[in-house]
Amino acid sequence: MASTQELSQAQRAYLDELLKHGLLIETGVDGLYGRSGVFEDVVDRFNVLISRYGGGDGAEVMRFPPAISRKHLEESEYLKSFPQLAGTLHSFMGNDADHLALLKAIEEGRDWTLGQKATDAVMTPAACYPIYPTLAKRGPLKPDGAMVDVYSYCFRHEPSVDPARMQLFRMREYVRIGSPQQVMSFREMWLERGQKLMGSLGVPVKIDVANDPFFGRAGRMLAVNQRDQGLKFELLIPITSEEKPTACLSFNYHQDHFGLLWKIATHDAQVAHTACVGFGMERVTLALFKYHGFDVEKWPAAVKKQLWP
Ligand code: AMP
Ligand code: ZN
Repeated sequence: MASTQELSQAQRAYLDELLKHGLLIETGVDGLYGRSGVFEDVVDRFNVLISRYGGGDGAEVMRFPPAISRKHLEESEYLKSFPQLAGTLHSFMGNDADHLALLKAIEEGRDWTLGQKATDAVMTPAACYPIYPTLAKRGPLKPDGAMVDVYSYCFRHEPSVDPARMQLFRMREYVRIGSPQQVMSFREMWLERGQKLMGSLGVPVKIDVANDPFFGRAGRMLAVNQRDQGLKFELLIPITSEEKPTACLSFNYHQDHFGLLWKIATHDAQVAHTACVGFGMERVTLALFKYHGFDVEKWPAAVKKQLWP
């Protein structure tokens, strides 16, 4: 059994290699990195590969910037479950005197952020968040429900030396909204597809039941409940540890949680159920570099053919 210390040593070692090869670029903040052209090319090609698997389903494409309305975050109840991960956007809204005080605080090494005020925007915690209020506004769903394709940088305040645990990372998602049957069969389909897709990239995968990192004591109950009901599955790939493989894809069934919150109705006036499949773009890319090496030219021909057909 590897100790926590051994695990973080392995994570730091892989991070150092990625930095040394110039694939990630240091910023001085754990979990906040620049990406090289080679890294971005792999992310882009993987994104195209996802579309090759899911693009025929007729999902509506929506792209949002990596921030959502603060009001929507409040209404989503994200802060009930994950207050520790949320990122708010604050800004200076003072007068000349406040400005002078701010500059003086920086000069004296004091906290200059105390006067910052919350803006109307917060960081996007998961790519699918902006779509629920958007769909709710449109009125009842069509008989075959809805499917949306989203892709966004997401923010989670979880600084770490693990290169696979970033504070800003990209998530591509397909989201299904409709009856429980429609939503469940979507998730089943993607559980199959996800394994096939990742298997074609020559990386070892395992599916397991999972839970979200719900906050606090009440959160422990939520996590147990989520696992018992099989609401979240993850596709895991060992990146820095065999014992603790990394979740690279997630398959979430939210039941009627978002449907109730946002009042999303099916065509026959039932509360809509929702599910999403989320691809961790950086995590998959990191797994590819781990298994196939830092020189993309030398990757196995079959893998290159998948990504650069
Ligand atoms: P989740 O909403 O937690 O299921 O996240 C969806 C996917 O995003 C996961 O399966 C991961 O691949 C990816 N992901 C989640 N958190 C992070 C992170 N801190 N850094 C990089 N990727 C992440
Ligand atoms: Zn989602």
